[in-house]
Amino acid sequence: MKLPVSLPDELLLSRLIRYVTASGYKGDSFASKVFGSRKVSIHPFLTARLEQLAEWSLESAEVMLFQQTLAPLFLFFLPIYADKLKQSMLTGDGAEAHRASQLSSFGNGHSLCLKWCPVCAQQDLYQYGVAYWHRTHQIPGVTACAFHPVLLERQELVKRQRIIAGLLPTPISLLRAASDAEIQVARFASKLLQLVTGGIHRVDTVLAYRSKLSELGFITAHQRVRRKSLIEDFCADIKHYRPSSDTPFPRHPHDYRYLSQLLEPHTSHHPFRHLLFAWWLFREPKKMFSINSFSIELVGPIPLISVAQKISIEQQCLELLRQSHSLNKIHHLTGKSRCYLKRLALLNNIPITIKPKNLTDECVNKVIRLAYSGMNRETISQLCSVGIGSVEQIISSQQGLVEHRKRCHWESKRRRCRLEITRYLQSHPGTLRKDCKAKCNAAFFWLYSNDGIWLESVLPKPMIPTGRY
Ligand SMILES: [Zn+2]
Repeated sequence: MKLPVSLPDELLLSRLIRYVTASGYKGDSFASKVFGSRKVSIHPFLTARLEQLAEWSLESAEVMLFQQTLAPLFLFFLPIYADKLKQSMLTGDGAEAHRASQLSSFGNGHSLCLKWCPVCAQQDLYQYGVAYWHRTHQIPGVTACAFHPVLLERQELVKRQRIIAGLLPTPISLLRAASDAEIQVARFASKLLQLVTGGIHRVDTVLAYRSKLSELGFITAHQRVRRKSLIEDFCADIKHYRPSSDTPFPRHPHDYRYLSQLLEPHTSHHPFRHLLFAWWLFREPKKMFSINSFSIELVGPIPLISVAQKISIEQQCLELLRQSHSLNKIHHLTGKSRCYLKRLALLNNIPITIKPKNLTDECVNKVIRLAYSGMNRETISQLCSVGIGSVEQIISSQQGLVEHRKRCHWESKRRRCRLEITRYLQSHPGTLRKDCKAKCNAAFFWLYSNDGIWLESVLPKPMIPTGRY
């Protein structure tokens, strides 16, 4: 017995259901066969006992964990519990994994359901012959499809046994339109899930949030968060988001703690709270990573510096950049390098005017002209009095130039090799092929692989082997 091959974005539970549907097994006898107990209950998106399941599958337990459950999202947002959760899903039982996921402590993990998009179900039926449960749709709190602007349908899971034959999405014709915020959060969550599926990034979410809040002006000069305006703006943007049993929202428009708790280090919160806030702040999951990795670079050389201080230096630099001070002046005031300041300006869309001293338009044109002639980079760098790095940058930014230069180098090499062989043959009339091969070995083999027709046409005719009489 082997589980069916996973379909794109398919939930692990969906494969188990497809297996019992196709094989005619009953859920409890399947559980008894695989896990050794009929009473095992399977969590829809944090499925445990993966090492036992892997014995019945073509892929490893780790692949199942990262690609067919929502573990990557939980590991990302709950770094404190990440190791415990991963271990309990791989080797432990469902209850252990559920405890490690903290869902019960967040107060939103009591009722479980499976969600599906009617349009996706229709398409899957057409494309794969079966409508199945998508992993992306099961992200807690997400109510819309990430690919279609419709609301997800829900199937409550009331029975303890969840591997039920035939429990698959049913295509329906009645579609309910989702609001803008619902669609955007679904897309954000789906993209983030894709990003963390390849491996969990250790991101300091608190630092990333505070950094972005500081940029948006929600942090005062004394490093206090402007909680009132923050929660008001946040609530205004999510007012069309429909609540359901797995959407922990602010309890009222002045629920300050809802967001301020997310800004406290070493705390754990429901992943949907993080998703909603991160969407509201960044709109694009990649930005969350860029701010954070940038902050890590920023704090790297200065040990023992508090989060508030890091934000303060960054905020100071941003303020000075916005006031259009020169990079040199900001460097003297803050001690931050020009390179760092340029990157900071770029990340925050602040235009900076840097007048290049040597790299004028005339110089750039000269570099391009010389580069087209096939001249090597060191010589161009000397002739134009600019660094070799600048020459490389200009060459790579000119479309088609790199390919042209590669072709030139190839032609040049061919000329050299042909010349070497021709000279040898001219100076050794009546030579044998094997001598030519031995004396001009490198040129011979380069031409043999790259210019075989020419080589064959100039080499002496091969000796005809003489047989025995
Ligand atoms: Zn869909």
